Amino acid sequence: MAIDATLPYDDDNIFAKILRGEIPNKTVYEDEHVLAFQDINPQAPQHILVIPKGKYVSWDDFSAKASDAEIGGFVRAVGHVAREAGMVEAGYRLLANIGQNAHQEVPHLHVHIFAGKPLGPMLVKG
Ligand code: 5GP
Repeated sequence: MAIDATLPYDDDNIFAKILRGEIPNKTVYEDEHVLAFQDINPQAPQHILVIPKGKYVSWDDFSAKASDAEIGGFVRAVGHVAREAGMVEAGYRLLANIGQNAHQEVPHLHVHIFAGKPLGPMLVKG
């Protein structure tokens, strides 16, 4: 079910549990500010999620409240993960769902990285 991205941060969300090590994940990259791991239900041959370690519900929350170091670290990490995964030459897609109309399901900011095949149109029409 899509979440309301204006709600306060929920410490029991699934990505908070992953960050605390309570739920396993397939990590592809980690640093001081960021964790990147394989999506459990991949929507493309390569599907990686990149999340900040800080408690931010969505891009909206993060862009308003995170420090410059967190934002810079996050943006650089997304590029680094895509480069390390060999996605640059053929291309890849970034996606961040924010709130109900975008069908955000997990209330901790995450950027999806999709790659590995032609990814089709950007949005479903209609
Ligand atoms: P959203 O719809 O919020 O943008 O995307 C949430 C994503 O999190 C989905 O692609 C879903 O497959 C992924 N996901 C949900 N639960 C887990 C989990 O426990 N582990 C991993 N690795 N991914 C998850």
